Amino acid sequence: MKRSANTGTLFLFRNSMSFRIGFGIDFHQLVAGRDLWIGGVKIPHEKGSLGHSDADVLLHAICDALLGAACLGDIGIHFPDTAAEYKDIDSKILLEKTVSLIKKENYSVVNIDSTVCLEEPRIKTFTKQMQQIIAEIAGIGVNHISIKATTTEQMGFIGRGEGIAAYATVLLIRN
Ligand SMILES: [Zn+2]
Repeated sequence: MKRSANTGTLFLFRNSMSFRIGFGIDFHQLVAGRDLWIGGVKIPHEKGSLGHSDADVLLHAICDALLGAACLGDIGIHFPDTAAEYKDIDSKILLEKTVSLIKKENYSVVNIDSTVCLEEPRIKTFTKQMQQIIAEIAGIGVNHISIKATTTEQMGFIGRGEGIAAYATVLLIRN
């Protein structure tokens, strides 16, 4: 009786250890003359994100969350903004490479929750498309990808339209 209870506890412990949570955050300046890429979708706007790559704030936050969950460092370590090979790169490629890195460690994505903070434009009409793009790369269903959006009520650099931020939380499971 005692033995089976102990085995059960051990089983639960091992099972819980196979899950890993990760958190990611990213910021970019918004400037004229750049495209605005968010979640792999080009959003029509008079300003775009400034960065070495296509500066997709949401995909970068998700990459960081995935790397964090697997204890693999951050996006700057794997894809340095000093490397010519990443200049103006499509961040969907960075997300693909990140998913490959976590798969190499035998992890799969369970779900992703995220929030994009920007004053304008409103991105609600694009979130379904973003979900589909991210779900396809992560290899999970669209109903496992959550993308929320908020303003900062006109406060701070985001409120003044000077920048954009994204936050992401992910859960991984070890296969
Ligand atoms: Zn970024």
